[in-house]
Amino acid sequence: MADCIFCKIAAGGIPSTSVHEDDVCLVFMDIGPLSPGHTLVVPKKHYEMIWDMPEAEAAHLGRLIPRLAAAVKGAVGAEGINLLQNNGRTSGQEVMHVHFHLIPRHAGDGLGYRWPAKPADPAVLAAEAEAIRKRLKA
Ligand code: 5GP
Ligand code: ZN
Repeated sequence: MADCIFCKIAAGGIPSTSVHEDDVCLVFMDIGPLSPGHTLVVPKKHYEMIWDMPEAEAAHLGRLIPRLAAAVKGAVGAEGINLLQNNGRTSGQEVMHVHFHLIPRHAGDGLGYRWPAKPADPAVLAAEAEAIRKRLKA
């Protein structure tokens, strides 16, 4: 994609601070980190959303991420890691090329976490689960 910043990084047209590269993906430091060690995992091919990705490429990222998370955590002495993957503008996605954020967390880091949970009606949960199951089979 000509106007995609991560495609430009993948093609070597824009520099990045690389952590890892293989046939399928790139790992580099986020240029606007939420905390020290904030790292991005990016498929080399352009996919906008996670549901656009072929399973094999998604599985490749999935295999790498646990080991990478341990390395990031150890490198910055974090107590925890938020793994974040935004899909769509509503969700906060700004770069329309799939990426996973690894965001190191420390007690008192001030980043916070918004999770405004509400009580659920079991019948509504069951209907949602059924609708999801149907689409999963399709
Ligand atoms: P999103 O909001 O799309 O989930 O996150 C996009 C992330 O990409 C942001 O955290 C932003 O700092 C990062 N980013 C945007 N442009 C660049 C760039 O040119 N280089 C690097 N390394 N990160 C970038
Ligand atoms: Zn792209």
